[in-house]
Amino acid sequence: MIFLISMLLTFAVMEGVTWLTHKYVMHGFLWYLHEDHHQPTGHFFEKNDAFFLIFAIPSMACIFYGTFNAMPGYRDWETDRKSTRLNSSHLKLSRMPSSA
Ligand SMILES: [Zn+2]
Repeated sequence: MIFLISMLLTFAVMEGVTWLTHKYVMHGFLWYLHEDHHQPTGHFFEKNDAFFLIFAIPSMACIFYGTFNAMPGYRDWETDRKSTRLNSSHLKLSRMPSSA
């Protein structure tokens, strides 16, 4: 249930962020990049296509950062995989307390 609520809340918030970005950024100080989207030039590429990079690069950077750095235990399969196998080839460590 919390997943559904957070998904719907994220959707609603991102719709607002998108609307605000379009109105105040793309039609604001970055109008020179967005203008040819509303007044087609007939070229295959538009300056507006730069927004793909402007939005995608930070998004992908955040996804990579969150996936590989910010989630404790996310990469446990790399260290734990052998411990669940029978007849594992990894070294058996003594569980006895050290006498030293
Ligand atoms: Zn526009």
